[in-house]
Amino acid sequence: MAESKEGAADKKKSKAVETLRGMRDILPDEQIYWEYFRRKAREIADTYSYGRIETPILEQEKLFSRTLGKQTDVVEKEMYVFDDKGGDKVALRPEATASVVRAYINHGMLNLPQPVKMWYMGPMFRYDRPQSGRYRQFYQYGLEVIGGGDAVVDAQLILIATKLFEDLGLKVKVEINSIGTMQTRQEYKIELVAYARKNKKDLCEDCMRRMAKNPLRLLDCKVEACHAIMKNAPQIVDWLDDPSRDHFMELIEYLDEVGVPYVLNPHLVRGLDYYNRTVFEIVPDRGDDAESGSQSALAAGGRYDELVEMMGGREQTPAVGFAVGIERAILEMKQQNVEPPAMPVPDVFFAQLGKEARRASLRLFEEVRKAGFNVVEAFGKASLKAQLESANKVGAHVAVILGQQEVQDGTIIVRDMDSGSQETIPIEKLIDNLKRILK
Ligand code: AMP
Repeated sequence: MAESKEGAADKKKSKAVETLRGMRDILPDEQIYWEYFRRKAREIADTYSYGRIETPILEQEKLFSRTLGKQTDVVEKEMYVFDDKGGDKVALRPEATASVVRAYINHGMLNLPQPVKMWYMGPMFRYDRPQSGRYRQFYQYGLEVIGGGDAVVDAQLILIATKLFEDLGLKVKVEINSIGTMQTRQEYKIELVAYARKNKKDLCEDCMRRMAKNPLRLLDCKVEACHAIMKNAPQIVDWLDDPSRDHFMELIEYLDEVGVPYVLNPHLVRGLDYYNRTVFEIVPDRGDDAESGSQSALAAGGRYDELVEMMGGREQTPAVGFAVGIERAILEMKQQNVEPPAMPVPDVFFAQLGKEARRASLRLFEEVRKAGFNVVEAFGKASLKAQLESANKVGAHVAVILGQQEVQDGTIIVRDMDSGSQETIPIEKLIDNLKRILK
């Protein structure tokens, strides 16, 4: 039986290999946003003297399970873990702080002047439920300061985070909280669970699990009923030890000093075990309160004073850092109608017609490029009309056209794309001619 055209097309489609769920291609058209973000991110890291660090995407699984906390969603449910061919249990990194701290210890960075300031940018992997702004492979840009415990370090880091978003043209607000020490958190958790237990008939199933496993997460449940109950829950700031409370007060004073607007959010606790004292999130400021909360966080971070020691480094090496979700920042740029500057418009479009001309063009193109012009081509297109359409599309100021006749005569056509006027000139005058027109 003859197969219908559509049937054949469907068959073909089903054979095509697709990306994995939650993973996406970032196509050339979107790069304008990514380039803009990367440029601003690099500039800000340079301005504040952060050194770039790149760590492997694949690490030993225990690096994360021991540091982020076994009961956390990231370790329990979301990590890509497998045995490699040598039998090592490895994981695709779900975040980069643990790797940066590992590198700090492995390379003896405690012998450098402290604090050590580093930044990174790259893909992270979490087997999470994909939705808008949440992917299984996503990109983070992050800054870490290791070896500095003063609240001024936290304040400057928060300032840098807000500056970055300001530079990107985004309106954001900072939410901050202090979660004290491991010890005070333990005491607070008992109190929190007791409160939740009293109200358990109205809590969702997830919260029932959280009560046993990760009670701090009770505080940022998105279910309306749970949220209403937790509004009146005991607040972690009331459990702070004196040094943590002082640290938090100092941080707030510093933020006031530099005029960074912030909102105190007593329910902000962050999902990972290694945090202590300062925690913060940067959320879009769209002029309403509905959007606040961890789902919409563009960036998040906090202090992790115990992590270096916990991972085998020197005792008392306080540290603080944050990470921006780059996809989220880009989605927000689109939401707030931020137009990244367009890619530079090429000066010259190089068009050719015929085999001989194409050969000569390949060489001439290099000469024009070496002379410092931003030049583009469409050598893959045979028709002159199609090439000139491309020249128009990219907005090139000038097109140079080389045909069979011109190759024979040793000439080339130079066309002003705005006016449409053109002249034929000796080929050796091309560079001088372009310099004159494009000066
Ligand atoms: P975290 O490492 O969980 O503190 O997250 C820091 C930031 O990374 C968040 O505020 C988000 O902007 C971003 N982020 C975290 N998880 C994802 C994800 N699955 N997809 C996209 N962005 C994410």
